[in-house]
Amino acid sequence: MNCFECATEHQATTPAVTVCSQCGAASCTRHTRVAHAHEEVEYSPGAPSETDLGRRMFCTTCAPGTTTAVVT
Ligand SMILES: [Zn+2]
Ligand SMILES: [Zn+2]
Repeated sequence: MNCFECATEHQATTPAVTVCSQCGAASCTRHTRVAHAHEEVEYSPGAPSETDLGRRMFCTTCAPGTTTAVVT
């Protein structure tokens, strides 16, 4: 599969390395953003109020503000 952003923006065929967890678009390293998903859990004494659901990959369109680029 090739990168969706490269194909639509630059008419280029770049091999994709991941699939966006939101929209399902394939993206290359330059168009991939990485973040950790968090879920609020019921507060109990001594326990964190958030749990880390693990890493999520996003395309540049779906990336939330807390994401970081995988390449610079
Ligand atoms: Zn790309
Ligand atoms: Zn997406």
